[in-house]
Amino acid sequence: MTCELCKTTEKTWKGADRKCAFEVMKNDEYFQENNWSCASMLALRAICQAKELIRCAGDEHYAVLPVHEVDVSSFNYDSTSDFDSWQMYEQGNVCLVVTWYKNRGRTTSANVIGSEGMIHAITEEFLVKVLDYYGRNTTTSV
Ligand SMILES: [Zn+2]
Repeated sequence: MTCELCKTTEKTWKGADRKCAFEVMKNDEYFQENNWSCASMLALRAICQAKELIRCAGDEHYAVLPVHEVDVSSFNYDSTSDFDSWQMYEQGNVCLVVTWYKNRGRTTSANVIGSEGMIHAITEEFLVKVLDYYGRNTTTSV
């Protein structure tokens, strides 16, 4: 399985094929650091660029995107078995921190800081909400 945007977005560059950040073997949907030009991650990075949130530490790029207004009330989770999801979806989130090297296709990390200060690896489900909130019109490829 890949994310919805990887399924529907054509490859527009030469070189390594896309590897979705949410392509997993197990039955979970958390961000995988072994990714390349995942369409959802590129859309997220494009939003960060459009909002002028990108900063550099040498060749490392990072952005902090506010997500406290992203509505997650429609999410389903089992509060007894999925504590991480419960924290993300019930207690609320503050910001999303995303990092990548130079302008390459791999996104090295994507984590959400919850309102209780907990750090959560981002899920595709949550990222879709973030992209919807900020709009998908800024999608670019790397
Ligand atoms: Zn993807």
